[in-house]
Amino acid sequence: MKLIYDMQYNFVILHPKNQRNKMQDINFDNIHRFGSLIAQAARIAIVTHMRPDGDAMGSSTAMYHFLSMLGKKEHKIIIPDPYPAYLDFITSEIPAGAICAHSTDKAQAENALAQSDLIICLDFNAFHRTDAMAPALESSKAAKVLIDHHIGPDRESFAVSFSETQISSASELLYHILMAFPQIDSDASRLPAACATALMTGMTTDTNNFANSVYPSTLGMASSLLAAGVDRDNILSELYNRHSESRLRLMGHMMKDLMKITDDGVAYIVLDTETMRNYKVQDGDTEGFVNMPLSIGKVRMSLLLKEEEDRIRVSIRSKKGTSANRCARMFFNGGGHENAAGGRLNKPGDVATIAEVPEYIEKYTHIYLTEYE
Ligand code: 5GP
Ligand code: MN
Repeated sequence: MKLIYDMQYNFVILHPKNQRNKMQDINFDNIHRFGSLIAQAARIAIVTHMRPDGDAMGSSTAMYHFLSMLGKKEHKIIIPDPYPAYLDFITSEIPAGAICAHSTDKAQAENALAQSDLIICLDFNAFHRTDAMAPALESSKAAKVLIDHHIGPDRESFAVSFSETQISSASELLYHILMAFPQIDSDASRLPAACATALMTGMTTDTNNFANSVYPSTLGMASSLLAAGVDRDNILSELYNRHSESRLRLMGHMMKDLMKITDDGVAYIVLDTETMRNYKVQDGDTEGFVNMPLSIGKVRMSLLLKEEEDRIRVSIRSKKGTSANRCARMFFNGGGHENAAGGRLNKPGDVATIAEVPEYIEKYTHIYLTEYE
């Protein structure tokens, strides 16, 4: 691995395998074009993926505060559906009317997209990841900018694309982009405090608190943000020490009674609506549970399935050498990252009822691991 220095004196890493400079999209031209689009736009929409997680909300919130710092007055975060309450602490400085969810306020969300001059898309690689909001996003005449860390971005749909997969999170990618703006000039202490906190939060949740997808650049970012005064202890206590009692009891029930492990080393847990009702499961309550079975030596891949009205949500995690992304794309109508992916089973369609899910998983993960891995 060879370290080289870019024009901003941030280190970039040359990967011997693909010979692609890390963060090559963060160059003078792209930053200049992005900066000009911001300067010219009166109305700006910040958009992220459905069921927004810490990285989605962290990067969107950070972008919001950076635009405020640049003097923009009419910018909004437009999300496909509401974000979980445990992330309220990062969005607390955003005025109530400046975050709008398409699922609860369709007309306002679609108007905002139609009337925007610029739409900044964070933490997703293709419009369909915004679910029912996708047609309005796609048809908006606004210039679109992509900031994302997933494989295979739809670059043609964007005026400027910042795409990097060898990175922890969209929040980290946005951090490096902001560092390259002349207003910040590689000095993290110039970021608004709420922006810096949101970036640190997004990186923390997407790396599972530094457990995976950590690169030298990730630690560099964390170090600079800490030095700039970000209160990491507070972020950790907001993220990990404020859960309900029922959440921990549900986790016990899931690991003890619901987790099954196949002979191929696939652990899976199916959560039906009745169980979620009994344990009063809120949005975001099962965050992180899908990783736990990977602590077992013989487990190569872990799946968590949650029943919804017309579909079953699928989360997949895998160890190195097994591709969660490929399995999600082939058999679970989804995709994602190499070792962290998601998708859905349609009900009816892939399965008639939730009762058929174990059989589906055992059959298709067996086919996947024996024929395609
Ligand atoms: P999670 O299991 O946390 O919901 O999702 C893990 C990752 O999988 C996300 O960061 C996202 O990249 C990806 N992902 C989740 N659901 C879907 C989906 O339905 N389609 C695609 N293409 N990716 C998904
Ligand atoms: Mn992400």
